[in-house]
Amino acid sequence: SVPSAPTSSTEIQSDVRVRGAREHNLRNLDLTVPRDALVVFTGVSGSGKSSLAFGTLFAESQRRYLESVAPYARRLIDQAGVPDVDSITGMPPAVALQQQRGGRSARSSVGSVTTVSSLVRMLYSRAGQYPEGQSMLLAEDFSTNTVEGACPECHGIGRVYEVPEDKMVPDPTLTIRERAIAAWPTAWHGHQLRDTAVALGFDVDVPWQDLPKAERDWLLYTEETPHLPVHSRLTLAEAREAIAAGTEPTYSGTFVGARKYVLDTFANTKSAGMKRRVAEFLTAAPCPVCHGKKLKPEALSVTIAGLDIAEFSALPLHELMTLLEETVASAEKSAEADGTPAAPDGAPGEEISAEKLATTVRLGGGLIDRLRPIVDLGLGYLSLDRSTPTLSGGELQRLRLATQLTSELFGVVYVLDEPSAGLHPQDVTALMEILDGLKDRGNSLFVVEHSVDLMRHADWLVDIGPGAGERGGQVLYSGPTDGLAEVEESITRGYVFGGRGLESHEPRQAREWMRVEGIRRNNLRDASVELPLGALTAVTGVSGSGKSSLVSQVLPALVGDRLGRPAQEDEPAPEGDELLLTDEPEELDGSVSGELTGIRRVVSIDQRPIGRTPRSNVATYTGLFDHVRRRFAETPEARERGYKPGRFSFNVAGGRCPTCEGEGSVMVELLFLPSVYTECPDCHGTRYQSSTLEILWRGRTIAEVLAMSVEEAHDFFTEEFDIMRSLTALIDVGLGYLRLGQPATELSGGEAQRVKLASELQRSQRGDTLYVLDEPTSGLHCADSDRLITHLQTLVDAGNTVVMVELDMRIITAADHVIELGPGAGDDGGQVIAVGTPEQIASAGNTPSAPYLAAALE
Ligand code: ADP
Ligand code: ADP
Ligand code: ZN
Ligand code: ZN
Repeated sequence: SVPSAPTSSTEIQSDVRVRGAREHNLRNLDLTVPRDALVVFTGVSGSGKSSLAFGTLFAESQRRYLESVAPYARRLIDQAGVPDVDSITGMPPAVALQQQRGGRSARSSVGSVTTVSSLVRMLYSRAGQYPEGQSMLLAEDFSTNTVEGACPECHGIGRVYEVPEDKMVPDPTLTIRERAIAAWPTAWHGHQLRDTAVALGFDVDVPWQDLPKAERDWLLYTEETPHLPVHSRLTLAEAREAIAAGTEPTYSGTFVGARKYVLDTFANTKSAGMKRRVAEFLTAAPCPVCHGKKLKPEALSVTIAGLDIAEFSALPLHELMTLLEETVASAEKSAEADGTPAAPDGAPGEEISAEKLATTVRLGGGLIDRLRPIVDLGLGYLSLDRSTPTLSGGELQRLRLATQLTSELFGVVYVLDEPSAGLHPQDVTALMEILDGLKDRGNSLFVVEHSVDLMRHADWLVDIGPGAGERGGQVLYSGPTDGLAEVEESITRGYVFGGRGLESHEPRQAREWMRVEGIRRNNLRDASVELPLGALTAVTGVSGSGKSSLVSQVLPALVGDRLGRPAQEDEPAPEGDELLLTDEPEELDGSVSGELTGIRRVVSIDQRPIGRTPRSNVATYTGLFDHVRRRFAETPEARERGYKPGRFSFNVAGGRCPTCEGEGSVMVELLFLPSVYTECPDCHGTRYQSSTLEILWRGRTIAEVLAMSVEEAHDFFTEEFDIMRSLTALIDVGLGYLRLGQPATELSGGEAQRVKLASELQRSQRGDTLYVLDEPTSGLHCADSDRLITHLQTLVDAGNTVVMVELDMRIITAADHVIELGPGAGDDGGQVIAVGTPEQIASAGNTPSAPYLAAALE
């Protein structure tokens, strides 16, 4: 028979075709983009880029993958949601690298997320130098997270918890009845402990300091928990009389020493509030056995190049690479000089076997290959032991990106979320090379980006818009970047082809100068800066130069101290373990001089979440939800039923759904798979009881209000001025597309930051605040950045002072004063290398920012 021509379905399709995409705000859009290319998705915030790249393309690829590997995962897929799209063809398997939202584990580190640590442990196990007579250890013996490796004293935490007497008993002039032992519980349990102390023969009515030391120590430190009959509320003398008289005891009580109470409660309580309370009495000190290195002594005795694995992991990665290169080179040399092996690290004594040398070369070489892309992406200043919660979202994403580079995958699509975030223009060039490398290896790249440089570098540009939310969701342009020049409707066009942006800005004169001297923090070593009050200052410099250390860490703390009040903490207090596990560097030094004329508050508007649970959201954070609840409570129907504003809260019992306790979702445990959250079967995600939902305000239920976007709410609440103030501020910072009830945990760092900014903008301005912002424009389209800067200028015009970290040179031109840190990253940075107006920095010409700033000023 005659062979038939291949049908179209067997032809290899060289592009990805999307038909009828309707996820979130996408307007039934069709799109065709090439494979094996760098495709950049752009558009204003809320236009639908993520809904398309992540919510549709990646989600569909993920769904197919799950379906092919695990038919039983059907339920999981249903719960994760199937993207609303008619068809997608030609989509290769996808790997998504999204900026992390919400919490991260304090136990993960640069070494663990890049998986470099496991290679390092192998290297120490097989190629390390062992002290004479010590047998070889396994790789697990070098892990702080295993029973085999962890320090037996602190169990791999590196710290030990102490409960010092002066914390448990802050005021020794008090008697026990007057609550001298502050660490003991309050209320009935506290009374019971006091009564049992009396029954045990302690005098609870003399000042603590007058009790004999042996008694004080026993009360605080005993591990015994005697159970005995007690008489309620008596003094020691009265109790003795009662016993002598044979009076019936009131009840039986159990005594617990204060230290034991604190430690047991800290370890076992399920209540976050209790945990936080007892944590107050704990102090963490470095472990006396491992000195904070977290490993058992045998593991720490093994060295490479004279360093134990903890010291090795604390080196900046670029130094680590140099050290490994030297180690490998010398091992190679020794191996060649057959028969006369020498220790590669110069350590005398041990004869190194040929096998060990070969292992050093092989594993060391592998490590170098892993580290190179990380260093190339501008992260050479990090160390393997740096914990991930101290990294910015952008740093974490770049680490993941670098890890992908060594995975040798090909034929996949990488879906990335603003990989340029946190990068100085000088570092963006390195990023482009990395992306090109992935592409050359036969992969496709779908990148959501705001960097104009990356747009120009793209093979293909997809512009979504024209506006946000309902006013977006359409493909305005899809094609090679040059073609965008013809698309009048596109807001992006003006920025890519120049000729548009911020109006030229005449720098303001400072009202006064504040001087901060002797700054020590991370890589800042005795730095000094002068900041103009009543002006907008931009702090710039290459990644890792010390900008965040200065602006987010030092300034709010020092100025807050000087003002005698801490910087306003927007962040919910850390809880329990988190509280004690944070790897905050202890050192923070410096002094503020000069008159702080007109500054009464410091407010740090950072990218940390506005809440750690889905219970906080935009409406609760800005306070507008209080007003909304009051409106519902004021309706005749609510008054008739006696519903108070609290009835309309999903955070307290009453009107909320009892099944999910107002969360709207419940957790489902799945066999073999991580548990997932699924819509609550009783309230169907509305969070409320049906009776609460019977109350309508202007025809809407409270749940319907929470489901509105800020813009919809703005149309709905027109005459309600208290509510409108918050809504207008949210729209002003470009967040009109957020839903009022959108959980805090779903917001990106940039969105959280803008919610905080909006909360400030809605206050009446007294012009007495120092605002500090870390990269406020990250995650923003140029048009959104312009709007944001305009608002910051308004704050400054009202008399406030703004200091911000900024990397977009176009935005820096709008500052009154610029401070550039550098010259390099980590130990190569930390110095002020230029100060002045944007023009002065640009024309000095000898710093990393100067040429880019000069270009932006043209
Ligand atoms: P971009 O990535 O361009 O900033 P998004 O794709 O995140 O935009 O958002 C586009 C629209 O979809 C916005 O109106 C946003 O509020 C809405 N949206 C985003 N995530 C969700 C969600 N999980 N549920 C409902 N609507 C959403
Ligand atoms: P930038 O903001 O300019 O990118 P950073 O201030 O974040 O720079 O970092 C400056 C230096 O301080 C880097 O070497 C970085 O690794 C180090 N560093 C920053 N934060 C911490 C931290 N929490 N713990 C330890 N080192 C830190
Ligand atoms: Zn220890
Ligand atoms: Zn429910």
